[in-house]
Amino acid sequence: MIIKFLGGVGEVGGNKILLECEGYRILLDFGMSFSEKRKFYSEPWLSPRAWEDLIGLGIVPEIEGAYRFQGGESEPLDAVLISHSHSDHSGCLSLLRRDVPVYCGETAKAILEALAEVRPKGLENDLEGLSLIAFRTGSRIRIGPFDVEPIHVDHSVPGSYGFLISAPGASLAYTGDYRLHGNKPEMTMDFVDGASGLGPNAMITEGTNILDGEVMGELDVRGKLRKIILESKGLVLADFSMADLDRLNTFLEVAEESGRMMAIPMKQAHLLRALRGDRGLKVPDPEADDRIAVYRRSKRSYYDWEEELLDRCRVIGAEDVKRFQDKLILACPFQDLREIIRIGPEPGSCYILSTSEPFNEEMELEREKLVNWLDHFGIPMYRVHCSGHAMPNEIRSVVAEVGPDRVYPIHTEHPSLLARFLSGICEAKAPELGRAEEL
Ligand SMILES: [Zn+2]
Repeated sequence: MIIKFLGGVGEVGGNKILLECEGYRILLDFGMSFSEKRKFYSEPWLSPRAWEDLIGLGIVPEIEGAYRFQGGESEPLDAVLISHSHSDHSGCLSLLRRDVPVYCGETAKAILEALAEVRPKGLENDLEGLSLIAFRTGSRIRIGPFDVEPIHVDHSVPGSYGFLISAPGASLAYTGDYRLHGNKPEMTMDFVDGASGLGPNAMITEGTNILDGEVMGELDVRGKLRKIILESKGLVLADFSMADLDRLNTFLEVAEESGRMMAIPMKQAHLLRALRGDRGLKVPDPEADDRIAVYRRSKRSYYDWEEELLDRCRVIGAEDVKRFQDKLILACPFQDLREIIRIGPEPGSCYILSTSEPFNEEMELEREKLVNWLDHFGIPMYRVHCSGHAMPNEIRSVVAEVGPDRVYPIHTEHPSLLARFLSGICEAKAPELGRAEEL
């Protein structure tokens, strides 16, 4: 088996790992590299128009038989396997050739499809014609000589998996993104146990938090939110990832305890409705859960999916929030900040930044604007979060438990640091972009 790292090398995200064996080629994750994209574009004002632009600028790598607009007679990739629905792992799917099958978890499929529906259509948001094949833990996927076993892991979005891959003469464990300090460490341990049973030749692990380790779990988040929200007199505004169900459930528990209702954006309500049938998840139902109201953004017309929500759910608007500030937590993503002009938060209100992914440069730029909004309205900000990614000691214990011959750190800005941290357990090798590694 040959491994080529085509993304996620020396950066957080943009994962793309090509495996080749006996003429078959499969890709582990097909993520967008935000750091590369940011070098050239500033969305929405300056955004890529064609896939050639993305290739030409080196934002996405040349991969034979991968792209839908590619001409020529190239053979298609044999499969793409998606570990989870975050864009840094799935963001290039829109560009994929339609005759390449895509495998992802059932929940990830529901999330990808629901988000594609609520986001503006375009070059990077078009899943039309793709065949998404759903798997669960226990599924076995056979692609030519590759035998793939997906096993769930705990991450800040449901439907996250790692992969155990066997091919003649070689085996590999790929973690995807994972953690042990979240609500469901046993899920990650299922993957670790499976990987340890495989005794792989190589392991690919993420290493996001190698410089920003903070030991904090979802229960700590709950405790901190509880203290802040119980002490707050006015409106509580909160920003957290729409697809992070653990965080939403934490907010809902604290909302109930503090006698407040949670108002969520329409997009999030749409996503929750799409996930309602998922047996393995604790999904609050925006139509029936009396802790939830759907916040209607002030605008002239609504899409069909929005109209449907507005018909079925308890709906509140800016005027209601203005009147009942001390009775509400308003989930307020960055792009909804304009709503607070109409709401006019009273003195004593606060803003809680509870996004679980690390800050990047783009978010730093946004942070400046966020601070201007908060300054204008006199709203202090708290930062409460627990990462979706493993901490350094967690990574070391996982690698030791799995016991591969060799480990490759990816999804980190400091692969050499992590390789040195892991040395002694097994051979640890910082990958190089595009170089072929033989197993
Ligand atoms: Zn990631």
